Amino acid sequence: MRIKPRLLKRWQFSASVFAPAVLLLAITAAAVVGFVLWSTADVDRRSLLRQTELVRNILAEEVAKVPRAQESIAIWDDAIERTKFKFDKDWIDNNLGIWMYEYYGHDHVVVFDQDDEPIYTMSDGVSPETTLFASERSLLTREVAAMRALIASGALQTYVNGETAKLPQVVDLRQIGGRPAVVSIAPIVSDTGDIAQEPGSEYLHLAISYLDEEIAAGLGKRYMLEEAAFATERIPSSDHASYPLASKAGRFVTFFQWKPDKPGQVLLAQTAPVLAGTFLVASLLIVALVDRLWKSSAALEAERMSAHHQATHDALTGLPNRTRFERKLEEVLASCTRDGTQVALLMLDLDRFKKINDTLGHQAGDDLIRAVGQRLQELLGNGALSARLGGDEFAIIYSGKAAMNTAADLARRAIVAASTPFVVAGSEVFIGTSIGIAVVLDGDADRLEVTRKADIALYEAKSTGRNRAVFYEDVMYELLQSRHTIEAELREALRGGDQLAVAFQPLFHCRTGTISGAEALVRWSNPRLGQVSPAHFIPVAESTGLVEGVGDFVLRGACELGARWPGLTVAVNISPAQLRNPKFSGRVFDILEESGMRPDDLELEITESILLEDEDVASAALREFRRAGIKIALDDFGTGYSSLNYLKRYPVDRIKIDRSFVSQLARQSASSAIVQAMVTLAHALGIAVTAEGVETHEQVDILREMGCNTLQGFLLATPTTPALIEAMFRDQVAAPESEARLVAEFA
Ligand code: C2E
Ligand code: MG
Ligand code: MG
Repeated sequence: MRIKPRLLKRWQFSASVFAPAVLLLAITAAAVVGFVLWSTADVDRRSLLRQTELVRNILAEEVAKVPRAQESIAIWDDAIERTKFKFDKDWIDNNLGIWMYEYYGHDHVVVFDQDDEPIYTMSDGVSPETTLFASERSLLTREVAAMRALIASGALQTYVNGETAKLPQVVDLRQIGGRPAVVSIAPIVSDTGDIAQEPGSEYLHLAISYLDEEIAAGLGKRYMLEEAAFATERIPSSDHASYPLASKAGRFVTFFQWKPDKPGQVLLAQTAPVLAGTFLVASLLIVALVDRLWKSSAALEAERMSAHHQATHDALTGLPNRTRFERKLEEVLASCTRDGTQVALLMLDLDRFKKINDTLGHQAGDDLIRAVGQRLQELLGNGALSARLGGDEFAIIYSGKAAMNTAADLARRAIVAASTPFVVAGSEVFIGTSIGIAVVLDGDADRLEVTRKADIALYEAKSTGRNRAVFYEDVMYELLQSRHTIEAELREALRGGDQLAVAFQPLFHCRTGTISGAEALVRWSNPRLGQVSPAHFIPVAESTGLVEGVGDFVLRGACELGARWPGLTVAVNISPAQLRNPKFSGRVFDILEESGMRPDDLELEITESILLEDEDVASAALREFRRAGIKIALDDFGTGYSSLNYLKRYPVDRIKIDRSFVSQLARQSASSAIVQAMVTLAHALGIAVTAEGVETHEQVDILREMGCNTLQGFLLATPTTPALIEAMFRDQVAAPESEARLVAEFA
């Protein structure tokens, strides 16, 4: 399955833009979440440290409260008297025992005598008590012993002497009956100092206060510690914190547990939804941004593609333009060098396109070009590309096998396609195409060289009849070179000097043999090329615009002669290029006026081709000349289309039967029949007939019999200089009898 290119592009775009954007967002999100989690945890950790410190202090205070309460009754003369000197159970209950329970919440009180025998016991407000001493007596003796040791060390004596302010006491934590408790022992001493006791004989007061739920709850309430409790085991929960309490000997007694305040967690719970919302919005923004970016980048891409297409394609036909054509040609020529692929280049130029463009308008011209482009496109096969190079020029590049045959086939089909009628601007039009072909079968070839060759072949195709294809041959190049030389030399000759001259060939009346006039023929003698025939250089002059200079030169020479010999006709050859110039007729009239020649004595020789190509232009000019009295002759008659229609439609005074017919003349030949028909027809239309290239007496006889009006040919006179032709004119005017001699010569 093929992935659609747009989809693929979108995927690539996402990979290059969307992925980094998402990655960035993810990294940012992870960093923010990580930071928030870390900082809230840190806040919680610090808060726990603070709370633990608080717990440590309040527990120390809780423990210290027991000896402090004890101190208030142990330093008291009455207490010594009522316990040691005169045992008073009631008094002890009310001041040292039950009272301690009721006022300070001490759970047990024991008073020991000097032999460490208990003389008073109290538990939970009841005295004497029975349970504690049954189970814990031995435990208590440790504290009692510790107190005695302290007294023995003299600590009490320094207090009694007033050397220290603090009554020595033994305070510790321990488990009693599995319950954590504060145990405190103090010696009962005089507050006034009035009762002196023998050191070591002091009675001892022991107070025990359990660290129970009530105390924990009270602390929790006072210090805002949630779920505060004493426990012998830790609550296995990350929600709870615990602080261990141990005896002085390091023995574990209890845990104080509570649910610590977690400000970080609270903060997190409050900020998490905001953060999540922010990320959601940021994600949506990024998605929207990327989508927008994709759309604008897609639009840019489309614009770029269209600009590229415009730069490499012709707007009218949609075919590749010259730029792309040149690049493509270079490509295929490179592959020709690389792997021997054959290449053919066909250059096409439409025939008669200009005429349609001029007559039907540019819109029709555009439609026609478009239609041609389409037809060309349709006939292409594999390995071929067509292009429009501009105007009515097209090209086809083929690369592949059998380039020669394929090119010939393509050319044939292109000619058929172009000569099949087109309908533009509502009318059917006929064009054709000339094609020049250059083929590269192997080896290196340069684009410019191949293009030049195809152009030369195209030129050849156009100048040898049009609507045809011509393969390039080297001889064409040589021909072109020689044309270039002729052009350059002729241009030079036209600048001045005496290279150009006008020769005159006389024409004779067929019946009388007298001179009717002369035809002016251009002569060119070039120092490098020698004598150049007009048949050679006139076509070059026509295609390069030089023919007007040549034409003016000849016309001037002819009119100068004609002005001096009124009554004799001087004929001048006019090329189609001259006639097409709208200023031409004005120039003819100017020269006539300058020279003083009568228009009636001037004859312009034109060929059929001009009538074929530019009917309207030609006929308008011809009518203007005829109105002025100038005569028109159709030269080389019989070689072109010889449409007898022209004779009827155009103002022609004379036809000049081409010498190819005259040279074939013999009695009973086909040519004779044709010439006879031409003469008869021309006469029927009131048109005079001249036979060109008369070389034999037999031809003279036949032509005379046929009723031809005038004759021209080497037999009668060759083209000659103005001086000699004037001499001939003079002879005839001076001695008309010599006319008889000439007639005799014809016979
Ligand atoms: P064209 O107008 O048919 O002129 C007659 C040509 O036939 C002349 O050749 C002339 O020398 C030649 N010719 C005359 N009699 C005979 C003959 O008996 N046998 C043979 N074989 N040839 C004969 P040229 O002067 O070489 O001119 C050739 C063509 O060049 C002319 O044919 C004409 O078409 C053109 N041309 C000559 N001069 C001019 C000019 O001034 N302007 C233009 N536009 N074309 C000219
Ligand atoms: Mg002529
Ligand atoms: Mg001729």
